[in-house]
Amino acid sequence: MLIVHKYGGTSVGGLDRIENVASRVIKARKEGHDLVIVVSAMSGETNKLVGYAEHFSSKPAKKEMDMLLSSGERVTAALLSIALQAQGYDAVAMTGRQAGIVTDDVHTYARIEEIDPTPMKNAIAEGKIVIVAGFQGITKEGNVSTLGRGGSDLSAVAIAGAIGADQCEIYSDVDGIYTTDPRIEPKAKKLDVISYDEMLELASLGAKVLQNRSVELAKKLNVKLYAKSSFSDNEGTLIAEESENMEAVLVSGVVLDRNQARVTLRGVSDKPGIAAEIFTMLADNNINVDMIIQNMAAADGETNLGFTVPQSELENAKSVIEKFDHDIKGMDFDENICKVSIVGVGMKSHSGVAAKAFATMADNNINIQMISTSEIKISMVINEKYGELAIRALHETYGLDK
Ligand code: ADP
Ligand code: ASP
Ligand code: MG
Repeated sequence: MLIVHKYGGTSVGGLDRIENVASRVIKARKEGHDLVIVVSAMSGETNKLVGYAEHFSSKPAKKEMDMLLSSGERVTAALLSIALQAQGYDAVAMTGRQAGIVTDDVHTYARIEEIDPTPMKNAIAEGKIVIVAGFQGITKEGNVSTLGRGGSDLSAVAIAGAIGADQCEIYSDVDGIYTTDPRIEPKAKKLDVISYDEMLELASLGAKVLQNRSVELAKKLNVKLYAKSSFSDNEGTLIAEESENMEAVLVSGVVLDRNQARVTLRGVSDKPGIAAEIFTMLADNNINVDMIIQNMAAADGETNLGFTVPQSELENAKSVIEKFDHDIKGMDFDENICKVSIVGVGMKSHSGVAAKAFATMADNNINIQMISTSEIKISMVINEKYGELAIRALHETYGLDK
């Protein structure tokens, strides 16, 4: 088979771990597979580089950030290739550019536009194991770009699609997708299989085990995706198209997102077009708005408008909102919130799932500040200090520990 492996930061977090990855690659090679291996930077490396930049500037140029951040993945790609060569295997390390990955020019959050698979395919045809530095590409202008945090998952899926790989295996420190983060609830159970849509919701709602854009692309390109551990030989989880027996399961997982902040706008003029103006301006500034709540206007013709944004975008959101001071009486911010969500394709065909979630919060004396739902998920904003308690309680309510 032609297989893509991706090894995350913890899996390549030191020289001994790179050695471990080399052994796993050699094992797959001995089984007769052609391989493209995508690697992350060593764990902590990308954060360290961000810290270096922040030493000099609170708003470093994004183009320079890409130049800086892409270096972490180059180190591990080169080292893994050297480790394999030292054991007598023919390997070649490639940067994003050498691997033919072309992106748009949205620096630090670039989208892959196309991949020319020729360099990788040629190397494979020559019998080489191809090692690609994840998380990066090149813009049409020839500048280095990066794909957003966790972006090596996206590199792996996109490469798997471009070279027509039989499957793409994402290796981390957990041996698959669990009903919730096993660090929060040790009773979490590993799933054998989960649908792309459920995985996409889990990833988008805060489960960082897979980057959400990588799941979206895997679905689009129909890439057979596995989540596995680089520290064991356990089965892992298959992420695949929804099947009928998946719908029999009411809830597949619960997820906690600690990185949200709530914005409340008080005394917003109740006139047509105001929400459009505010949210258009937020979108133009690349601020990702999530839950939105607007109350009915009171007799004085004013209303309150609440929404959530990622904590990292709160400062930007504040500067945008300040431009509307003629239409808004005041604004509050709360960073001490979190979002807990329940995900499952079975919700489409079952009622009462939401009522159970609210009852669980009530039983635990947790106040729900905001609610939003879609066909396969329910999300609630609550005080941050109850986040883990809520996750464990919901996990039990839906029988996920059984
Ligand atoms: P890598 O550095 O290899 O990319 P990540 O740290 O991004 O790995 O992802 C693995 C982590 O994701 C696990 O250590 C686990 O704590 C966390 N995680 C969160 N939610 C889940 C879940 N539902 N199933 C498995 N792991 C989860
Ligand atoms: N090194 C990058 C990050 O920490 C990309 C990745 O690991 O996928 O976000
Ligand atoms: Mg990751």
